[in-house]
Order: sequence, then C-alpha cells, then structure tokens
Amino acid sequence: MRATVFRGTQKVGLEEVEKPKAGAGEAVIRVTLTTICGTDVHILRGEYPVKPGLTVGHEMVGIVEELGPGVTGYQVGQRVLVGAITPCGQCRGCLSGHPSQCGHGEGLEAMGGWRLGNTMNGAQAEYVRVPFAQANLAPIPDELKDEQVLLLADIASTGFSGAESGGVRIGDAVVVFAQGPIGLCATVGARLMGASLVIGVDGDEARLAMARKLGADVVLDVRNQDVVAEVKRLTGGGVDVAIEALGTQQTFENALRSLNPGGTLSSLGVYSGKLQLPYDAFAAGLGDHRIVTTLCPGGKERMRRLMEVVRAKRVDLTPLFTHRFALEDIRDAYELFSQRKDGVLKVAIRP
Ligand SMILES: [Zn+2]
Ligand SMILES: [Zn+2]
Repeated sequence: MRATVFRGTQKVGLEEVEKPKAGAGEAVIRVTLTTICGTDVHILRGEYPVKPGLTVGHEMVGIVEELGPGVTGYQVGQRVLVGAITPCGQCRGCLSGHPSQCGHGEGLEAMGGWRLGNTMNGAQAEYVRVPFAQANLAPIPDELKDEQVLLLADIASTGFSGAESGGVRIGDAVVVFAQGPIGLCATVGARLMGASLVIGVDGDEARLAMARKLGADVVLDVRNQDVVAEVKRLTGGGVDVAIEALGTQQTFENALRSLNPGGTLSSLGVYSGKLQLPYDAFAAGLGDHRIVTTLCPGGKERMRRLMEVVRAKRVDLTPLFTHRFALEDIRDAYELFSQRKDGVLKVAIRP
C-alpha cells in the first residue's frame, strides 16, 4: 500500500509499504479521508521527534477492513471515525477521567494517548492499524459525509475542549487568541457553550474573516491595535475566559492580561523553551485566576458526541476545508499547508 513516510527533517513522501495486519484488540481501517495537522508540520521540520520510517498523520475517516481477535460489536465494511488520541480505556489515566493522558506519561508517551503518527504508523496512507479498537472506533451515522466529521478527530475536539475546560458559562465573554484551525474551533466551541460575546484575535485577514463567518461577534487584528486594551474596553474590564490557541509567550501573556479577576485562561497551545508568568499579569497571585490546559480528547464516546453535534446541525466545519488533494499529491499538500499559501486552513486528502 502507499503511505506518507517521514525520513528525516524536511523529508516526507509517499512510499510503498506493507499493508498492516490487525493484532489482538486492533483493527485495520481503509482510510477514505485524512488531513494534515500543524503537528505534522512540526514533525516535518524536525521540531517534534518521531522515528524515521514512521507513517505520519493522525486524523482519519475510513471503513473497517479487518478486525483483530477480541474486537466485538463491529463489522467489516462499517464506516468509522477514529480520534487523533486513541486511549486504551483501561489504564490509570483513562479510568481516572483523563483518557488523553492514557499511559500516564512514560517517555515519549508523555504525549499520552497520542499514538497514531507519533509512536505508531499513522493515517496518511491507504490503510491504518488502530490500537485499542474497542475503545476507539466510532460508527458514523449514514447521513454524515466524510468531510462533515473528519475534523472532529482532532482540531474540533481540541478547539471545543478549550471552551469546555475553561468552564464557559451562558452569558460569558470569551476571547480566543489565534484563529488557526484550532482557534477557529475554540471560537465555535465558545458559542456552543453559551458565551454571549466571542472575540477572535489574529493577524491574518482570511482567518479573521473565517472567524466572523463561524460565529465570532468581534474580531481584532493584532497588527493594528492594542488587543488587550480593546478586549478590556469591549468587556468593561476583562473576559471570563481567555483561550490561547497558538503556544507563544505573547499570546499566553495577552490571554492572561485579558482576564477579569476570577477569570480562566484555557490553554491549548504547545509551548517550547521557557514560558514566563509576569507577576502583574497574574495580579501577583491574588486574582483568583485559573490556568487550565487540555490535550485533544479522543475515544469513541467523544467522537460519538461530536458527531451528534454535527448531525443536529449545531455546527458545520466544512468551510475549513479550503483545498483538496489525492494522496499521490501529498507533497504538494504539505508544501501548501506548511507555507500557509493561498489562504489555506485545512486540506482534505483522499487515498
Ligand atoms: Zn493534530
Ligand atoms: Zn489508557
């Protein structure tokens, strides 16, 4: 079969590899739609370490091709969505209510239940082997098309979780720093949770326009205004929840400075180097602030719930697919996506 294999920094391409087989508790899925994530670009640039020879990709819709021993309640030929995070459903992390932290942080598994396209071969291929299949295969309702559900595997689950973990209440004011795919989904999530004012912040015209389209009440362009001052003016002092969706010192600090006393900073970004907490932004520790972080929630129950949100027409994320490619052209897709050319948000890739 053909698969997108990482061979070293800036070396990702299509190769002929052996088709996977399902072991005990596993399933093999024939991938019908996949996409490229910002994390894959970090892998491509050598900024996130994976072993050369790994098939990348962790977002997939497909059809059950093979079920390993012990996987019950599914049929070959069934359409399924698999989350980017594949928790085992059995370990201490999973059974303590933190399935994303499955495996409890051993070594590279510090990224918890993120296995596909990280420590196991991933989804940018014709077939993918899914671990802990019983906990991770979510049947797709017939009326939903692949493009309607694919983004639920990662970016929507992550983006929505920014609003959920932040504890957004009906009537809250929320600001979302950065309107990339995950930030846009956080904007959508804040609305779903009942915020009455959602402010989207970015420095890119196309992304701000998409934020408006997907439900931001106000958008602020970081290039031409003091966004913290403007957030404070719009909210009479600060927001209830600030969601950080980029992973930089600047956005983290701006999120913190945008909060009302008692507000929550809900962080989704992935940081590197040092992250500093200026005492004044933190009210010297006296502001009753909360800082929470979330790794993409996965597992079949999370996927089922998110698909219900789409089926009930509460949300439509298909406008985020700005470009479509065949698997043969995945290098072009990487080029476009990693360079952020042509207003790209997400690419849909069909094996
Ligand atoms: Zn991802
Ligand atoms: Zn587990």
